[in-house]
Order: sequence, then C-alpha cells, then structure tokens
Amino acid sequence: MRRAPATTPRAVRLALALALFAGLAAPGARAAEPAAGAGAAEATAGRDPGRDLGRETLAADDGWAAAEGGTTGGAAADEAHVFTVRSRGELVRALDAGGDTPKIIRIAGTIDANTDDRGRPLDCSDYATDGYDLTAYLAAYDPRTWGGAKPSGPQEEARRASAARQAERVEIAVGSNTTLVGLGENAVLTGASLRVDGADNVIVRNLHLRDAYDCFPVWQPNQGGLSDWKTAYDNLWLRGATHVWIDHVTVSDRGHPDDREPTLFGRNYLRHDGLLDITNGSDLITVSWSRFADHDKAMLIGNSDSATGDRGRLRVTLHHNAFENVVQRAPRVRFGQVHVYNNRYVVPENAHDYRYSWGISTESAVYAENNAFTTPGHIEAADLVKSWNGSTLHQTGTLFNGYPVDLLTIHNAYNSGSERDLTADVGWTPALHGRVDSAQRADHDVARGAGAGRIR
Ligand code: CA
Repeated sequence: MRRAPATTPRAVRLALALALFAGLAAPGARAAEPAAGAGAAEATAGRDPGRDLGRETLAADDGWAAAEGGTTGGAAADEAHVFTVRSRGELVRALDAGGDTPKIIRIAGTIDANTDDRGRPLDCSDYATDGYDLTAYLAAYDPRTWGGAKPSGPQEEARRASAARQAERVEIAVGSNTTLVGLGENAVLTGASLRVDGADNVIVRNLHLRDAYDCFPVWQPNQGGLSDWKTAYDNLWLRGATHVWIDHVTVSDRGHPDDREPTLFGRNYLRHDGLLDITNGSDLITVSWSRFADHDKAMLIGNSDSATGDRGRLRVTLHHNAFENVVQRAPRVRFGQVHVYNNRYVVPENAHDYRYSWGISTESAVYAENNAFTTPGHIEAADLVKSWNGSTLHQTGTLFNGYPVDLLTIHNAYNSGSERDLTADVGWTPALHGRVDSAQRADHDVARGAGAGRIR
C-alpha cells in the first residue's frame, strides 16, 4: 500500500486520518495533496475514498445469499464493534467479542495463523509432540510391512496429538453477524482455516487467503480402493452456515504448492484440502468475483452421498469467479441447487494433472450459464465435466477455447463406462442473480476484476 509522502504537512495527514476514522471524505485535504488522497483511498480499499467496505451489504438480487432475508454480515456494528487487527491474537479476540453482536473486522497487512500468543512464528517442529517423526511414521505404516489397515499405535497417536496442537492455532471460528474485510489491496491471512460453523449472516471480502498448510497429514489406506494422504484444513469451511457472501477473495496454496511435495507411499504428500468447502447443511451462499488458484481440490459443495440432511439445502451461487490452475472440484456438487454463471476457467499449458472442473454428484442440480474455459490442447471439452451418481446438468452459453460448446451433449457422447448420461432438466430456474453477461465478456471482466484488492 502506498503511504502519504513524508513531505505531507502534518496537519494534512492528521485531517486525513481523522476523516478516515470518521468514515468521512475529506475533499479539501485531498484536493490540497493528491498523493496523500490516493493513499487514503487505498486504506479503505477501493478507488472511492469515502467507501467503507465493512458497511456494505449484499445486493437484494445477488444470488442465493440474497434469499430469505439477505446477507448483511456485521454492517450494522456499533463503533465499539469495529476492529482493525494486525495479528492472529487480535483477530481471534475481535471474532470472540460480543457473541452474535454485529461486528466489522478489518485485517491490516499480513496475519499468519501459525504464530503463538506473543506473535512469534511457529513451524511444524514447534507443534510436533510425543515423539512424532515423519521418518518413524513412514517406517511404521509402510504398506509393504504394515499392510492395508488404518494406522494405529505410538506414531499415529503422536501424529494426532501434534495435529491437535496445530489445529488449536490455525482453526479460527467466525460467528454470526460478522464482516471480515481486508484493508487496502494486500490484506493477507495465511495458514488459517476459517470456519463458519453453524453461524448465520457472514461476509468475507477483499482478502488473500493463503496456504492452509497441514503439518501432519494422515495416511488413509484403501479408501474405496484408493490409498491416499488426507489433510485437515480448508482455507474457508462453511459447515452448517447460512447467508454467507464471499466476495473478492483470492484463495490459493501460495507459499507451499502441493506439486513440490514428495511422493510418499506412491502418492503425493498433500498438504492442503479444499480452498472453500461448503458442507453439512450449509445454505444460501453467494461466492462472487473471487479467485481460486494453484491448488488441487478447489471447492466441494456437499461432502457425502449419505448426508441426506443436505437435501433441499446447499443452495449456492457462483458468479464472476476465476478458477485458475486448479486440478478438480470447481465445484463438485452433491444435493445443491447451484447457479454457476459467468465464471472464468483457465488450465495452464503445463498442467499435466488436470482432472475436471464440474463434478456432478448425487442429486446435484447445477444450472450453468455463460462460463468460459481456456485449456491447453491435450484437454478436451469432454474432460470438463465428470459425474458420479449425478443425473442432471443444465448448461448453456459455454465457451471452450473461444468456441461455443454443449457440454451436456459432449458429456453424454464421450462419458466413460462408469458414468451415466445426464439430462438437462435440473428442476429449477435461478431467480436471484445480477445481469448474466456473455461468456466472452465475463472472461474478460473476471480476468481484470476478480480477487482481493480489486474492488472498484
Ligand atoms: Ca475439506
């Protein structure tokens, strides 16, 4: 963030500071000192210097989170519940303040969740306890000697105890009637797993959410025939959450890409789970103008075929988001009525592990309009959609490398033997949404406008 130049007269800087504090514009001061005015504008995030993102609410027609009362987050907070936080400790204290009283929490600079109460950084060795050691863990549960049973015994117990110590630092709960917003263009929360668990009316905007890194992945042999490393943390997990608006966030593994992790027991030693997972009866969610990047499993909506309590819930709108260099789940859906419009998908030239974008699973009802995909030559339109126990997909206006395609027809023509044909009738038509642009227009606008630091 640019700062007011040192030559700015003290009185002008003071006037600006007071104006910002009061949430008022100070046109005289800015006219006298344009450079300082630009700095002040960025301090409130956005080009309009009078704009206070914390006080903004979701527009009346903007997706599922606008239904049934809408989403206001902490916009109604009194002055005692407006916080600017710069450390994990300050963030957690602000989130805890006043129970469900509306609150606005502004994140300034970079906050690392992997820090102790005095703000000192913690690494994986600081959490390890009871003799946990990766080399010993690998020796204990090597499938060639341990076999296919779930890990148990001293090393697994030590892993669990160590993982609990990390969870205590990085799992951060966000309660009802909260707005969490980044100040300026470079507000970062790294290492955290934000959890909106059983809460209602939450807004998260203008934030970089990075690297929810699991120090202690667990080996899970033979899960449905496939053994794999399982990791604990999503950057953002909505669990039984209602009325949530996620807007202009950038979520990624930045700092620790999984493709640089070793292969252990024949599998990538994954460190990250989802970027944004929406599960356990969550409902009425809008995700807009956000960027999901450089990651394996981006977004899971519904986490189990047997979670029939999700029936009639998991209603989500995804619009004007960028999914760039993600391997799968953009999103993968069970049960929900999910409106996917005007999103931009980019698979880079060097992506050799791409799996699919839209996952159509049990009782899902995805209504997709005017989305744009850009992929390298070895990826075909038939690769974009994958179904497991899914039966419907509505899609229109899809653009694939600049050409219109009908992904439903292509899926049914080229699906593998294990997938059944999908029908176009998803049983609903979205009513709450803004203007639906052409895929070409959306692709262009999202490339320029999605993600943290880009609210205009
Ligand atoms: Ca997850």
